[in-house]
Amino acid sequence: MTDFAATKAMFHLPIGMVYLDGNSLGPLPKSAAERVARTITAEWGDMLILGWNKAGWMDKPMAVGNRIARLIGAEPGSVAMGDTLSIKVYQALASALEMNAPRKVILSDSGNFPSDLYMAQGLCRTLGPQYQLKIVAPEDVLGAIDQTVAVTMITEVDYRTGRKHDMAAITARAHAMGALTIWDLAHSAGAFPVALAACGADFACGCTYKYLNSGPGGPAFIYVAPRHQDHARSALSGWQGHDAPFAFDLDYRPAAGAERMRVGTPPILQMAALEASLDIWDKVDMAALRAASLALSDQFIAGVEAACPTLTLATPRAHDQRGSQVSFRHPEGYAIMQAVIARGVIGDFRAPDILRFGFTPLFVDAADVAKAVAVLAEVMEGSLWDHPDYKTRKKVT
Ligand SMILES: *Cc1c(COP(=O)(O)O)cnc(C)c1O
Repeated sequence: MTDFAATKAMFHLPIGMVYLDGNSLGPLPKSAAERVARTITAEWGDMLILGWNKAGWMDKPMAVGNRIARLIGAEPGSVAMGDTLSIKVYQALASALEMNAPRKVILSDSGNFPSDLYMAQGLCRTLGPQYQLKIVAPEDVLGAIDQTVAVTMITEVDYRTGRKHDMAAITARAHAMGALTIWDLAHSAGAFPVALAACGADFACGCTYKYLNSGPGGPAFIYVAPRHQDHARSALSGWQGHDAPFAFDLDYRPAAGAERMRVGTPPILQMAALEASLDIWDKVDMAALRAASLALSDQFIAGVEAACPTLTLATPRAHDQRGSQVSFRHPEGYAIMQAVIARGVIGDFRAPDILRFGFTPLFVDAADVAKAVAVLAEVMEGSLWDHPDYKTRKKVT
């Protein structure tokens, strides 16, 4: 069991704020400031270049990857840290397409986060006109996997609705059709237990600044199944993924295992912040996390549906079909969310009409949910959102 009151006490949460946006940017672990400061002064400051060996900087991308591996059901040594999620999506795609030549089709769905689609479009343009990104409706993914598909590129949880795909079923279908799978775990890692190895996933990637609380710009991760690690090639063949970076060979030779997916110099300071968060994650039982997340989400859904009849639930009700966020639709969603934020409950808005709330048991409890419901009810009953201050869209929604 996990003591979620204890984990909540480990985060800095502004007084009076109910933070339901850890699915977009996780809060600050209280130990992170000191951890990063120590890395800055005792390592960068006092060790300078020696830190690469003495402080273990060079090994961090795989060492930190191993701590994330437990959260996503991955084998030890199969997760490498670095770069951003968009970059890791590109790398996984390029590897999978090369491995599954001569097939040329990438299959994704319209619930995917646009950056994944954009990266695929850019890669197809580079590879040539034979390559194609096929985008179908989320409910049509399973049926669209046929023998032309080289790789499926599916984000497990829809960033807008919170709808969760069936990883085991899609992976099995893909393999039966001779396709490889890439799972984007942006809204899965740290949201609920993921079983990459058990599902037989080929590749996966995700970011750490959402549920894993590494702070803005924290490094992404990439997973390569052990059976592919020694023949998956990296299109972004940077020196840190070389077998012997300090041999400074003129020709690229990939490192053994998933380490070959490293590209360039890793972000040591951000990884220090991530490690502070992983100290908390190390204590979390993933089954307990899921149970608590569903209880909070159910409480929120029931409360909002009882108090706010004009909001329409956009998230599936079935537990096995949703992640750790709850979304409601309303044509005035942006203004409503601004009014709710002005009253200390932080969620966010996704065009065209989605109000999004993340439920993260590590730092959200039942009293927070009750307050969020009360604030939303007050805003809706009094039409408090109907005010010019709440209607001008900011750059980040
Ligand atoms: C958040 C998110 C991203 C963001 O990618 P970055 O490169 O980290 O900016 C990409 N894909 C999905 C599915 C996401 O949810």
